[in-house]
Amino acid sequence: MIHNGNSCAAPEDNAELETLYRCDICQSTILERIDPVNRICRCGRCGYVFVNPRPTQREIVRFYSRSTQYDPWLEEETGRNALWNRRLRTILKYRQSGRLLDVGTGTGQFLAVARRHFEVHGTEVSSSGVKIARDRYGLSVFQGELGSTDFGCTFDVVTLFHVLEHVPSPSSTVGRCRELMSDEGILLIAVPNDIYRLRSVARQVLAGAGIGRYRCPKFHGVSRIALNGSQQEIHLSHFTPAVLRHLLSRHGLSVSATTLDPYYVGSCAKDEASARRRYHLHLLFYTLVGINLYDTMLVVARPTRTGTPQ
Ligand SMILES: [Zn+2]
Repeated sequence: MIHNGNSCAAPEDNAELETLYRCDICQSTILERIDPVNRICRCGRCGYVFVNPRPTQREIVRFYSRSTQYDPWLEEETGRNALWNRRLRTILKYRQSGRLLDVGTGTGQFLAVARRHFEVHGTEVSSSGVKIARDRYGLSVFQGELGSTDFGCTFDVVTLFHVLEHVPSPSSTVGRCRELMSDEGILLIAVPNDIYRLRSVARQVLAGAGIGRYRCPKFHGVSRIALNGSQQEIHLSHFTPAVLRHLLSRHGLSVSATTLDPYYVGSCAKDEASARRRYHLHLLFYTLVGINLYDTMLVVARPTRTGTPQ
């Protein structure tokens, strides 16, 4: 293998790391190291792809609590309002009122939009996110992880918008969401489509053919985590539709709809129009062919009637 300095180089930082010895989803100990450069493992049984070793949760909470973490969000507040309204319209196809819980709500902007229809609740590990939710939107958001939260009620809608890829245990998070859902409730999960999006698939093909700078021994579609400020987000998991479906089924949930998550935020009207066109082209392809090559995926899940959480 030829290592190209630019494409294989991994950013370094001094983050405290932890190593996993079991798959979080199926508990298998058969873990393949598929990309040593970017510290990527894959479960040999269920196919779950994840970062290992990875920064500890303490490092991650510290990273997301930086006072500047949400500055880009606030600068894009108008565009993000449009984004949250798009997602809200998806929810309204299934539920028009009731109690809604947004897990990992960030600044709470989605809750501020959704409270026109729902009684809203939220959780967030970032202290700076919780502060913005309170000061800017007048929201009382629980600061902490979902597992430590007791609401004393169940929810008609639970949302995980680009959260599951960040949490240390997707299995615990989904299991706790199921506990918090009413039996008629819905769970919406949006995650990046890191592995099967068009760019990743193209790079994997080029790597397989040994072409150009893609020849280095890495798993294309993911990048190595860095907590040194060079990245805005930390993705600990990289999901495929099949793995997501398997994860949900293990917790007594079944997928009732899958689509693309219109995650784009345009910095100007021209960018917005371009992003919208790209999204709709991918949506059309997915509708006609059944293959999602877009950057994101969105799943709507419901409790199974006979499903027993494992
Ligand atoms: Zn597994």
